[in-house]
Amino acid sequence: MTAPSNLFNRSQDSLTDYQKALQKARAEKKNLLIEFGGGWCEWCDRLNKFILSYPDLASMRANDYIHMRVHIGRNFNSDHPLFWDDLVDGVPHFLVVKSNGSLIHSQLTDPLEEGDSYSYERIFAFLSEWSDPDKDSKEIPVPADYLKGKVAPASDTPPAALLLDGHWCGHGETRFRIFDVAASEESIFSVRLPGRDSLPMVIARSDKGNTFPVYDARQHPASLYYLGDPVISKEPHLQPFYPCPQCGQERFTLALGFEVPKDSETPDDTSWFALAARCVSCQWQGIIYDDKTA
Ligand SMILES: [Zn+2]
Repeated sequence: MTAPSNLFNRSQDSLTDYQKALQKARAEKKNLLIEFGGGWCEWCDRLNKFILSYPDLASMRANDYIHMRVHIGRNFNSDHPLFWDDLVDGVPHFLVVKSNGSLIHSQLTDPLEEGDSYSYERIFAFLSEWSDPDKDSKEIPVPADYLKGKVAPASDTPPAALLLDGHWCGHGETRFRIFDVAASEESIFSVRLPGRDSLPMVIARSDKGNTFPVYDARQHPASLYYLGDPVISKEPHLQPFYPCPQCGQERFTLALGFEVPKDSETPDDTSWFALAARCVSCQWQGIIYDDKTA
């Protein structure tokens, strides 16, 4: 039996610790390295001892990052606010976060293992790769429930490329999620935007006639049209399909952007929405709709 580890503090207030660590990361212009684990986790201890046995690894962890630990109980509570949408489902696990709060890397530790221990080369490579505070954010996006199966992580081509820099984020948040609309391997859609008297939904229809909302403002708590607002009593009216401003055709590839407030706790908890489209006939592209929310 190994003695229980006291690396992890089971009575910590992890959100407060996180905010303090972010402040420190800003002051020292470093990324934050969040290590999830618990005293019950033998591999967490093993990983720590391994890192400490190599002065260069220990120094990289201690000096190139702001390093914090988050205690996780044996029965994972997936509502934990620092789990970043269920990214953490085993321990030890690392997240690397920029000082502005955006996630840049989620590191499973199984790939760092070697035999009954860890690989020096792999841990060295991991710690070297993600310490740069100017590294781009590549947050792994998780969609709201009603979008599951209807979207894919954004490509870096239009129309998603129109959203990648986050300039459309109305509140200037640094975390955002971008998706390509891609349902059942279909990628070309006609789109109905919300009208004055219609429900606050953006509806896509694929070439095969599959019709579904790609944005439902009523599901997003920060939206002006969140459920509970009297505006939802309006009757739905069918809107015309959006025509390409350049050629008038109605078939597009679509990409969605959601701005994520720093205190967001669920995929629905977003604070801005943008819809980018690219005409399949003339290649016109633009942001054709956004939801200016509270
Ligand atoms: Zn066109």
